[in-house]
Amino acid sequence: MHPVRAVVIVGGGTAGWLTAGIIAARHQPRMKAGGLAVTLIESADIRIVGVGEGTWPTMRSSLEKMGVSETDLFRECDAAFKQGGKFAGWTTGAEDDAYYHPLMVPQGFSQLNLVPHWVRAGGGRSFCDFVTPQGRLCDEGLAPKTITHAEYRGLANYSYHLDAGKLAPFLARHCVEKLGVRHVLADVVQVNQRGCGDIESVLTKQAGEIFGDLFVDCSGFSALLIGKTLGVGFKECGDVLFCDTALAVQVPFDTPDAPMASQTLSTAQEAGWTWDICLRTRRGVGYVYSSRHQSEEAARETLRRYIGPGRDELPVRKIPIRAGHRETFWKRNCVAVGLASGFLEPLESSAIVLVELSAKLIAEQMPACREVMDIIARRFNEVTMYRFGRIVDFLKLHYVLTKRTDTAFWRDNLDPAGVPDRLRELLTLWQYQSPWFFDEFDRLEEVFPAASYQYVLYGMGFRTRIRPEDTAESAVLASRLVRQNERLTAEMCARLPKNRELLTKIHEHGLQSV
Ligand SMILES: Cc1cc2nc3c(=O)[nH]c(=O)nc-3n(C[C@H](O)[C@H](O)[C@H](O)COP(=O)(O)OP(=O)(O)OC[C@H]3O[C@@H](n4cnc5c(N)ncnc54)[C@H](O)[C@@H]3O)c2cc1C
Repeated sequence: MHPVRAVVIVGGGTAGWLTAGIIAARHQPRMKAGGLAVTLIESADIRIVGVGEGTWPTMRSSLEKMGVSETDLFRECDAAFKQGGKFAGWTTGAEDDAYYHPLMVPQGFSQLNLVPHWVRAGGGRSFCDFVTPQGRLCDEGLAPKTITHAEYRGLANYSYHLDAGKLAPFLARHCVEKLGVRHVLADVVQVNQRGCGDIESVLTKQAGEIFGDLFVDCSGFSALLIGKTLGVGFKECGDVLFCDTALAVQVPFDTPDAPMASQTLSTAQEAGWTWDICLRTRRGVGYVYSSRHQSEEAARETLRRYIGPGRDELPVRKIPIRAGHRETFWKRNCVAVGLASGFLEPLESSAIVLVELSAKLIAEQMPACREVMDIIARRFNEVTMYRFGRIVDFLKLHYVLTKRTDTAFWRDNLDPAGVPDRLRELLTLWQYQSPWFFDEFDRLEEVFPAASYQYVLYGMGFRTRIRPEDTAESAVLASRLVRQNERLTAEMCARLPKNRELLTKIHEHGLQSV
């Protein structure tokens, strides 16, 4: 038997440190007893990608389980609240064209599907407002909790907008000081394999040879272990998701006390979309576009127009995006997490949540020995391939529901040849029944649950045919849930503070720890 005693992570970006923290927190007793060591190697010279400011609510439980203080996260990572995404201009491009994909599921979601009742009610209110308070909270700039809620708790579901450049060093300190992760600052210059093909060690320029039983490739786009060493191919998704370039810029607030939105604003543009994220001290803005449909010069002009006059001097960073993922994620004794495993445009902030889910799977299924590793690898590959596929479907959904035909980018997105078969099938099905809690895609830890599909479909004006009998029996329960939502909306609007007000209090007084 060849026991797994040494886990070696290559890469110290968000993926590397989250993976280290999740594994180390899960295996503290073994680590303390000397049965497992977690080492993270990162180059001092190769910068982390440093973007990735939108997260999912999973981040709260990941950080809480790692023992991270939420107050410290707010103070040290410039973090702010995120309560969902607002999509402007995606359906028609008109001035008033916008909808929310909030983080709270519809009222009574596991009891009753409110879609037929919303359709029956005749569309006076948006689907989001009909089923959840969260769109209103975003409209009003309200926080999801108050200062009396303990860390990680709240009235409304939430995640974070944060400074990605600050998150990695923040997690590094915690992992090293509290969880016993060994941190090696060195460049990997060679990867050594055994005769069987397993990775035996990595040779570093500054710290010599480092041996391991399980290697986690978090080396970012370079995919040093999984791609360059083990030769795992890359499956391109550019024929479905056309955006291949990002331009990112940090924009100061007009005044230090400017109101803060707690939704990521994604605005459709000629050949892609802009993101706009409020941190406490600045905005993170960017334009993700298809270089096949717009020149870089025109894209820079689109971004300039979006951020407004007088900001031409702000430095803009160009980041190429290759939409796709590895053909397999865990090969031999190496598993890829983060950008090394693949990347899809950040329209729904799906990259970091995938890191968390992958790291959790590795931690939970940590192979006891090399002899069982291939069995776990097979499971991991199946689940991760499924997740990438569902993210592709969900991102493409935003494009195929558009009614925009004003530019080639939007027209090309409607070409059926670029719509994945599974999504096309579901779109046919959803004309007659809406996605809901019991849908087959609601697997354990689905990245996008049925509620997310509901928000996007009905936010973008998709029509599901409803028969009178779909609502007859459940009408009483439905009106109770709708009234409950109205009551909750009024209560939350009355009780919750503004985003900036609460963040200032957290900085001054801190939240109670759990
Ligand atoms: C434009 C853009 C916007 C994004 N927005 C979001 C978002 O809103 N939400 C979201 O969830 N995700 C987003 N992402 C994705 C997110 O940024 C990444 O998933 C996340 O940062 C993880 O990156 P990483 O750790 O895999 O790679 P990196 O940050 O690139 O880290 C790679 C690490 O590997 C190390 N390394 C590389 N080679 C060597 C070597 N030879 N020796 C030693 N060390 C080495 C580097 O030093 C570095 O520490 C976005 C990405 C882009 C491009």
